[in-house]
Amino acid sequence: MIGAIEAGGTKFVCAVGNPDGTILDRTAFPTTTPEETLARVEEFFSKYSIEKMGVGAFGPINLRADSENYGAIENTPKVPWRYYPLLEELEKRFNIPVAINTDVIASSMGEYEYGIGKDASSCLYITVGTGIGAGLVQDGKPFQGRNHSEMGHVILKKHPEDDFEGACPSHGSCLEGLAAGPAIEARYGRKGAELANEDHVWEIEAYYLAQAILDYFVILSPEKIILGGGVMKQEKLYPMIREKFMELLNGYIEVENVDELIVAPGLDDDQGVKGCIALAMKK
Ligand code: ADP
Ligand code: ZN
Repeated sequence: MIGAIEAGGTKFVCAVGNPDGTILDRTAFPTTTPEETLARVEEFFSKYSIEKMGVGAFGPINLRADSENYGAIENTPKVPWRYYPLLEELEKRFNIPVAINTDVIASSMGEYEYGIGKDASSCLYITVGTGIGAGLVQDGKPFQGRNHSEMGHVILKKHPEDDFEGACPSHGSCLEGLAAGPAIEARYGRKGAELANEDHVWEIEAYYLAQAILDYFVILSPEKIILGGGVMKQEKLYPMIREKFMELLNGYIEVENVDELIVAPGLDDDQGVKGCIALAMKK
């Protein structure tokens, strides 16, 4: 059996599964202090005999291969987790091989191995939720530079009718600052789910997401671009984003079928845990 931990900033999901991605049991609980949270992780896995484990963690995390602090959470606003050596603690407690990457890379791995990307050689998974992040998997391997990417923080051209200054504490009007769930809420004073019928909201949202996707597409040329996360529950965004993307691309690169390029996830909300299994399998 393989262990999976989706270590999110607000909740942890722990699961056990098979190498084929089947989930056999799972549990979820809120993320509190590291000590308390890891105690619950141990309690869940103590019922099982697991060979190895994969973790998709909230970030930023240290993934610099040559670092003494590889696998530690870095400078997060969640103070008790700041510089917490998550990988080291898990290895110590379970004494099995543990693979760690970002939560969005885990989702990308899940879709690549078991979901909508399983016949593709590269896929980019983008999550549009509390934050915006993207992870590229190519030939079964997560893309890794010196550390993990932060593709949510690309700078965009403002929509001419948008006077919101942007909510990113570092950049103001980067993609995350303009288009993540909290940015929508800050701009309109209401949550995205309550704005379902406001066409203008989604026009602006699609405008920003399409711009970022254009940038990712020309830089990385992924075979599949998968859009997930809470904000993408507004399904009307998919056709709007595709249309805007094709308009911005303006024929520069031939795209045979944009409906197959820019897609919804294939695993509902399970790409994260299943991706953790996939990460463990590569270890
Ligand atoms: P997280 O990013 O924290 O893992 P989610 O992917 O669920 O969590 O994203 C949460 C964000 O998505 C919140 O900002 C929330 O307002 C927004 N959201 C959730 N459901 C919807 C919806 N149906 N329509 C628009 N926005 C939504
Ligand atoms: Zn930013």
